[in-house]
Amino acid sequence: VLCVSKDFDFFYFVQQWPGSYCDTKQSCCYPTTGKPAADFGIHGLWPNYQDGNYPQNCDSKNPFNPDKVADLRSSMQKNWPTLACPSGNGVSFWTHEWEKHGTCSESVLDQHGYFQAALSLQKQANLLQALASAGINPDGGSYSMSNIKRAIQEAVGFTPWIECNTDASGNSQLYQIYLCVDTTGKNLIECPVFPKGKCGSDIEFPSF
Ligand code: 5GP
Ligand code: 5GP
Ligand code: 5GP
Repeated sequence: VLCVSKDFDFFYFVQQWPGSYCDTKQSCCYPTTGKPAADFGIHGLWPNYQDGNYPQNCDSKNPFNPDKVADLRSSMQKNWPTLACPSGNGVSFWTHEWEKHGTCSESVLDQHGYFQAALSLQKQANLLQALASAGINPDGGSYSMSNIKRAIQEAVGFTPWIECNTDASGNSQLYQIYLCVDTTGKNLIECPVFPKGKCGSDIEFPSF
């Protein structure tokens, strides 16, 4: 009997709010391809274990190869933009994500499948629209954690985890949103375990 071992239990699918990456003390740099849209961007698709630990850098013999995702490149530039400094075209961010995380799910998804899966999950989980339908908009206002979570749960169908960071004046703000995905990389699921980390009681949603 053939038995394919999956070396992880589920994925975190993580999207970042560009306004909250950029308004910190550290600031940000727009990609060489231009300022991204005011929308959530993909950070990564991260294999994880049920106990909260996770594998990383699983196969140094399978480096990122842009040729393997040539057909996805314009979609990646739009939906998976890099905001780190100095400005880049995205290749070093995607390289980092593939090599640290993607190689740990290569028994399930090859490079093309991995990036394709993340792009497709983002379409299934339109966070900006989910929040907007509950009156939660990137207007610099403060919103409660429970309202943010409920809006996403209602529109997307699954409970998210919210990660906060702090703006240059120290206010807690909506930085990243985590959803969980089964080991095929295709279906959202309820999270078996949530990450850790605290947000303030009021969470700012800054503009971008
Ligand atoms: P931080 O320490 O800033 O939360 O995370 C730094 C990096 O560690 C993340 O960008 C990600 O690569 C990795 N990381 C943090 N938490 C998790 C997790 O729960 N699961 C996985 N797979 N990676 C994580
Ligand atoms: P992680 O290890 O947390 O998955 O990925 C974070 C790494 O990707 C850091 O080395 C960071 O500098 C780089 N990076 C490049 N562009 C971005 C971006 O737009 N957002 C985040 N969070 N990290 C980025
Ligand atoms: P509860 O399980 O009662 O919803 O929350 C327990 C604690 O976890 C509370 O302090 C609550 O603020 C925090 N918490 C609940 N959901 C999230 C989340 O998505 N992100 C973060 N950072 N904290 C959360």
